Amino acid sequence: MRQKIYAQLKNTDGFISGETLSTALGITRAALWKHINAMKTDGALIESVTSRGYRLISPPTVPRAEYLAAHTRHDMPVYYKPSVTSTNDVAKTAAQSEPGEAVFIAGQQTAGKGRKGRTWVSPKNAGLYMSFLVRPSIEPARVSGLTLMAAVALSDAIQAATGIHTQIKWPNDILIGGKKAVGILTESLLNMDGIDYIVCGMGINVAQKSFDDELKEKATSLTMHGKTNTTELAAAIIDAFLDALDIFTRDGLSPFMSAFRARSAISGRVSVISPGHRDTGDFAGFDDDGALLIESGGQTKRFIAGEVSLRGENGYV
Ligand code: ATP
Repeated sequence: MRQKIYAQLKNTDGFISGETLSTALGITRAALWKHINAMKTDGALIESVTSRGYRLISPPTVPRAEYLAAHTRHDMPVYYKPSVTSTNDVAKTAAQSEPGEAVFIAGQQTAGKGRKGRTWVSPKNAGLYMSFLVRPSIEPARVSGLTLMAAVALSDAIQAATGIHTQIKWPNDILIGGKKAVGILTESLLNMDGIDYIVCGMGINVAQKSFDDELKEKATSLTMHGKTNTTELAAAIIDAFLDALDIFTRDGLSPFMSAFRARSAISGRVSVISPGHRDTGDFAGFDDDGALLIESGGQTKRFIAGEVSLRGENGYV
């Protein structure tokens, strides 16, 4: 019901009367009023004027599936929960029991994950935490490229929903002004026929106005750079990610690489840190498979996005 009410409000320019709404939806005025109040509790700004009715001023800030449906072109199932351990874990559990694809969103993660078992700090209603469970028919070797595809799609979606320009730190972070605003974590399961599923999770700092000491030097949020509505942002991400995934499945990573290169935050002398090893050299670009190239001692070395970390000579990038 809330989905229908929200769609009506969103598709009406100006006011819609309580009577029109309740008659159209077959509910009482009291029931309508309850739903409208619940939307307000979810952060929607809805003006109500006696004798004129209701007018939507801005969407809810809690990105429930009911609201997202009115904003996205895609109809992949979306599940919202106020609190989870990690949206990637929820998506992976669902993947074991269901054959389909879905998007999992949470208002909070109590055990948000980064790469290599690290933590993604995910405070309540401050960030957008979402994971796509998808099953594209691609070669297993191409899974690492999906993280780069996702970075481009996310960067596009952030620009479209908020106007904020972002940069990408190969392979899995999105930065604003040199600080991390988004982390991407891709996990996958292979079976004998190839890919069983891929879970691509993203933690996006949206509403934080400050960060604790351990993060304040390297983290930032969208709100620190512009105005963001979490529902509109989540919808833009769903559309951008699923559009990109279609292209990626059909044509691979190369259609994304010029955007990736244009937004790359890396330059100069860099170190690539792999388990037990550190390579230092001059950044020499990316190839069309999304591998990082660095030059050292007249040789070009190639690194595939995986469990490697990148550091600039003077710090984070
Ligand atoms: P590296 O550059 O070392 O490879 P990474 O950028 O890939 O790391 P991830 O593993 O994706 O990092 O994310 C985990 C790290 O991100 C944490 O170790 C922490 O430093 C940082 N971090 C955790 N939570 C947040 C957050 N909400 N915003 C920004 N950075 C965070």
